[in-house]
This record gives sequence, C-alpha cells and structure tokens, in this order.
Amino acid sequence: MTRTKATELLQISVRGVVQGVGFRPFVYQLATKHDLKGWVLNTSGDVKIEVEGEKEALDQFIVELERMAPPLARIEGITAAGAPAKGYTQFEIRHSLAEEGKYQLVSPDIATCEACKRELLSPEDRRYRYPFTNCTNCGPRFTIIEDIPYDRPKTTMRHFKMCPDCQREYDAPLDRRFHAQPNACPKCGPFLELTDSDGRTIAVEDVITEASRLLKEGKILAIKGLGGFHLACDATNGEAIQTLRDRKRRSYKPLAIMLATLEQIKEHCFVSVEEEKLLTSPECPILLLRWKDGSSVSRKVAPELKYLGVMLPYTPLHHVLLRKTGLPLVMTSGNISEEPIAKDNDEALRRLKGIADFFVVHNRDIHARYDDTVAFVGRGKMQLARRARGYAPYPIHLPFRAKEILACGAELKNTFCVTREDHAFISQHIGDMENLETLEHFANTIELYQKLFRIKPQILAHDLHPEYLSTKYAKERAGEFTLVPVQHHHAHIVSCMVENGVQEPVIGVAFDGTGYGSDGTIWGGEFLIADFKGFERVGHLEYVPLPGAAAAIERPYRMAFSYLSTLLGKSALDRELPFLRNIDQYEKEVMKRQLEKKINCPMTSSCGRLFDGVSALIGIRARVDYEAQAAIELEMAAPDDFQDTDSYPFSIAEQDGVKVVKLSELFQAIIHDLDNGLPVSTISARFHHTMARMVADMCHRIAAERGLRTVALSGGVFQNRLLLKLTADLLEKEGFVVLTHSLVPTNDGGISLGQATIANFVFSN
Ligand code: ZN
Ligand code: ZN
Ligand code: FE
Repeated sequence: MTRTKATELLQISVRGVVQGVGFRPFVYQLATKHDLKGWVLNTSGDVKIEVEGEKEALDQFIVELERMAPPLARIEGITAAGAPAKGYTQFEIRHSLAEEGKYQLVSPDIATCEACKRELLSPEDRRYRYPFTNCTNCGPRFTIIEDIPYDRPKTTMRHFKMCPDCQREYDAPLDRRFHAQPNACPKCGPFLELTDSDGRTIAVEDVITEASRLLKEGKILAIKGLGGFHLACDATNGEAIQTLRDRKRRSYKPLAIMLATLEQIKEHCFVSVEEEKLLTSPECPILLLRWKDGSSVSRKVAPELKYLGVMLPYTPLHHVLLRKTGLPLVMTSGNISEEPIAKDNDEALRRLKGIADFFVVHNRDIHARYDDTVAFVGRGKMQLARRARGYAPYPIHLPFRAKEILACGAELKNTFCVTREDHAFISQHIGDMENLETLEHFANTIELYQKLFRIKPQILAHDLHPEYLSTKYAKERAGEFTLVPVQHHHAHIVSCMVENGVQEPVIGVAFDGTGYGSDGTIWGGEFLIADFKGFERVGHLEYVPLPGAAAAIERPYRMAFSYLSTLLGKSALDRELPFLRNIDQYEKEVMKRQLEKKINCPMTSSCGRLFDGVSALIGIRARVDYEAQAAIELEMAAPDDFQDTDSYPFSIAEQDGVKVVKLSELFQAIIHDLDNGLPVSTISARFHHTMARMVADMCHRIAAERGLRTVALSGGVFQNRLLLKLTADLLEKEGFVVLTHSLVPTNDGGISLGQATIANFVFSN
C-alpha cells in the first residue's frame, strides 16, 4: 500500500548576483533532482521560484539552493513563503519579467573557466582556438550589458544569431551553456580581424598566428579585449618597450604583463599562497609581485621597481595568443597618457594610430569601458589599487540603509558611487579626471549605473576642491540635486570605516598627496576624529609652501628646497648637498623669491609631498613621470630585510588646540646621515620607521585625550606597503585596533564611497 504524501508549494525569492551565472539551470537541475514541479524566472529585481512537492524534498531544495549554488553566484538573501499547491506537472524556466523600478546585481566579467579552457585547447572540440568561447560560468557580462533583466537582446550579442548547435546548447537545461547570453562559436559568433594602422584589413589565414609572429618581431599591437584595447609587445624586448614608451609618452610608469601560465609567472616572480589564489581567481587581477633577479622580462617594463604587475590570460583570445607566442607580453591600457582606455574599433584606430603598428579587432561591441584591476597582497590581505574588471559593479555592503545618492569622487584615479538600500555601487576605475575624454566617460558611466540599478538620486556629493572636473560636474547639475560638499580626507577615513563596517568615531590618519582643506589650504597629512556625520581635525603635519604649486608636484626637488628653506632657514640652501647642485642657478633664485614673497606658494600639510621631498633630497628622484613616482622609488630604496629600526627625531607641538608634527629635526638628521655618507637604503628605512613612529605617537596623544582606540588608515600614501606594514604593526603592538582597506582602494579611487556615506548622514539629521 502506498501512502500519498501531501504536496506543498513554496514561493521563493533569491537576491544577489544570480543572473548570468547559470543560476536558473542550476535551479532547474536541483528541482528535477528532488522531483519538484513549478518554475523559475528572472525578474528585474530577483530570481523567483515556485516549487511544489513533498515537504522533505522542499526542505532539502532550500538548503541546497544556497549551499550548492554555481561558483559565480553570490546569494545575498533567500525568502520563502508557503502557498496552496497549484498542481504543476513539470518544472520549467519561464520568460524573464521586467518590473518597473526593481533592480538586481550585475555580474562583473569573469575569466575563462577551466571547462571552457579545456575546449579551447582541444583540437577535436568545435570551439578549438575560438577566441570568444564562454559559458554560464565565465565570460563577458557587465561590459556587454545595456539593460536588465540580463538577456541576450539587451546585450551587444544581440547582433549575432546563434547557429543550430549553439541554440541547442542555449536551450538545453542541463548544458553548461543553457541561457549563456554571450554563447557563440566559430560558425555564428564574433570573429577577429587584423588591420594595419590605417584600419585596412590584412588577409591572413589565422589572425592569432600572424599577431604572434608580429609580436615576436618586436611590433606593437593594439588588441581588443573585454573592456577595451590593450597595447601589447614582447616584454623581453627592450627596444620594443622603449618604442611603446616613446609613442605612448610614458617614460617610467610601470606596464603590466601577461604570462600564459602560473608556472611561467613563477619563473619571473615570487608568488605566495595568497597571491597564487588571487592570480588564478575568476577575477584574475593584475597582481603586483616581487620580481626575481635574472628574470628575462626587460627592466624597462617597470624601471626602478621591485614589483612587476602580472596577470594570467582571462579571455580565450589571450589564452590562445599567449600560448602561441610563448613570451611574456606587455599588456597595457590602450590609451595615450591618462586618457580613458579605447573601446570601439574606430575610436581605437583614431586614438591609437601612431602607437600601434597593427590592430587585432573584433566585432563584439564593448558597451562599458573596463580596465584591468590592479591588486597587491600586503600584511597577508588583498588590497585593490585599481578596482575594475572582475570586481565592479559588484556593490559594497553598507552597514546602514542608504538614500539614493550620487557621489562624484575626486580627481585622480577617480570613481563615482551610487547608493541604494544597503548597496554602494562604486563604479569601475574611471581614470584621472584631467581631460574631456575622461569627463565624458565619467558622465556616460554614471548614466549606465543609474539605468542598470534603477537609481534616481536626489542628493549629489562632491569634493571641496573648486577646480576638480568632478566638482564642476556636480555644480553644473545643482538644479537637479541637493549638493553636499565633502572634505577629501574625511571621505578617505569614512570610506575605510564603511569598508570595515565600523560606524563609531575613530582616529583617522589620512596620508595622501593633495586634498582641499576646509580652510582652503592643501591638506594631506591629517589626523582626524571622524564619524559618518562629521570630523574634527585634531592634528596634521606642519605646513610648508609648495613653490610653484603644480611645478612642486612634478619636480620634487622643489619640495626638498622648500623644506630646507622653510624648516632649516635659508643658510641650509648654501650647504653642499648633491641635489642642490643639480638645480639650475636661475631656478634656485626664482624659488627663493617665490618663497620669500609667497608668490604662487600655496601652503600644504601633505604627507605625499614629504615623501617626495625626502626622495629628492637624498638623490633618488628629482622629477616625476607619473603620480607618486618619487615616493614609490623611496619605498623601493629600503632593503627588504632591514634589521636597523632606528628612526629620526621629530616633535609634536600644540597650536590652538591642534597637534602639529614639526619636521625640522627630521630634516636635520637626514642631512646628517647624508653628510656621513650613509646609503640611501638606510636613510629610506629610517624614514619609514620614523613615519610609523610618528603615527603611533600622535595616536597615543589623541587616544589619551579622547579615549578612542580604533585607528583608520587611509589615503594614497598607504599604498606604500612598507609604510602600511610598519605603521599598522606598530599600532597593533601598542594596543590599537587598526582598520585598513581591501576591496576599496586606499587612494582617491575610494573617495566616492566616503562621500556618499557622509552625504547620507548629513541628511538623516
Ligand atoms: Zn566557461
Ligand atoms: Zn554557433
Ligand atoms: Fe586623497
């Protein structure tokens, strides 16, 4: 005798990244496995499921729904409610439902998965060497999506009609390519073309074979990837790299390289366990790795640096090209200096003409520009220096419910941020907002995010700096929004707090190059008491003039000159110091006059400038080619295995209730070491120890008065791994709780998150 068990029905809603990651086929398989009937569908807001069956099976289904979800799914919440059974007879995947105003998370683009890689490299597979192979577990997402719900007609793949084989995969619930929107094959999908620098197609039997031959010959190729064009050349060929640098007008800025396999990376770099995990992750970032002596990668790839920016292939095109070429390849953003990465074929031909000898293009359009993410591992923790591919537009979780806000960020390495509910969508890296191309990219990307996430902000947060293009953008839109100006370093600290889920007041140490202060001076060596609502500037580095303003940033010897003249008196400029000998006599006279008469000499408490000044003073870097170069090379000068933990003296003065770090003894002591012929490596190490000691001493004094024990470290200067390690270790050893960045850049790429949070709390009063 069989007993009929009661049939129950569950209505389920799943939120998170659950579309475009093979979630519906997974649900289909799971339901089938448990003999459940009903349906699953994508909506603009979530994935909805109705399942009917025996109670035990339903319970099991719910558990496995979360536990066995596909690798790229990120479930943020599941709700389930019981309802009367409807008598379904099968389980099906229903058409997507667009709902007004609802939003869902969009998956970042994901590196080629193992299964696709196997097909790509198997001569018998129908996708053998096909550069656009993908499946529900990998491939383009964010860069091809024009709107939600995520379906092929709303992506740039809509121009390609699937062949019967591809359609069969797309329709088969048990196939890895079931509803894989970018599904394609050599018969029906996008294809590559090789052109000369005038855009004329070159007829070749196989584009990748020819491209790899040209690369081996030392040519420079512009190659269209996921989110834009790369400029590629042989990374072991110094001459090719020099040509690329000359054409790109970049003498020193480090270039990223790509290698075919992890084993090859290990020939050139040291790779820790954490680093290996990151390199091979679906996000597949550029990782800054310790460069081995004897590596055949040319020094010209990263002059004066100990670290090399390395990544593995992340598209099928890269896999095939790198294997065919068998060499490490430079893969740097396809742009001139600081313009945004080129994405469209005509645009690339126009902008990269004169840089690239040949172009490898294809006919799958890129909807969103998307740079490579740059990460490093410091103190055993991943830190993003540039957050884009693989990470954006996945949101940061807010420890509160946010209003709909747009925050415009700052200037360099800019991002913006839009908030909704408990999500902060920080944009992918937009770039340095110093030209109209970048401003346009910024404005277009804001529109894309507002559309994708159905956000209509009423509040707009911006930096205090009146000259930033992001501020000007905000002010031009003043009619549509309520504007909230946010101080730069307050935004840095709050960004770090949010990332760590901390809402109570902290001691914020914000060290960076430039940020507009509430008093109109340039801040950058700041000690704040901060929370989400406000801040108090309780301390800072002593002010010095920036002789010639921007000129002092481009030429750090001007900073060294200013520190000596300001802190040690004019007589210090008569000393026999090597860096002084290299300054033109006329320029010296100009600077003296500038400093004396305070002409074009804005005052700054910047920590970035202090690093610059020391770097120039001890003869490491007098002029910079890229942001923070002098400071970075000062860090590089310090030995890795430094036993001497001596530090230089400094003092802390109270001025109008504010603690000011006085730096004259520090400069005296460095000059003393120089006079005694100490190597720059020792001076650099001592200077880094001094800065860590300085932070700890300031924090102790502030803690004694205010009773706070949590310190947030933020600002671009903390990309200095040595400084971050020494400072955070010392603070922890001395009993502080230390907050540092990970998924949100410590540089100005993290500013927008802080701005959005502060704007939210300004309005909850
Ligand atoms: Zn795949
Ligand atoms: Zn096909
Ligand atoms: Fe900053």
